[in-house]
Amino acid sequence: MSPRGLVLIKMAKKSVIARALKKPKFSSRIVRRCFRCGRKNGFMRDFGLCRICFREYANEGMIPGIKKSSW
Ligand SMILES: [Zn+2]
Repeated sequence: MSPRGLVLIKMAKKSVIARALKKPKFSSRIVRRCFRCGRKNGFMRDFGLCRICFREYANEGMIPGIKKSSW
């Protein structure tokens, strides 16, 4: 892992994450969260990661088939 992976990430509060795991009464209340840091915004469904964790994993080559584009 790169040194950046060791940097402490500001994580969502335990209570907030627990609430997100509960099945809500209305479908519009579903909150999808990054499994690594718990971030709810900038979430990418294809990977289950937020944009920040996606970038870090992608730069380390931990996501198969993902390559930084350059042209
Ligand atoms: Zn994340």
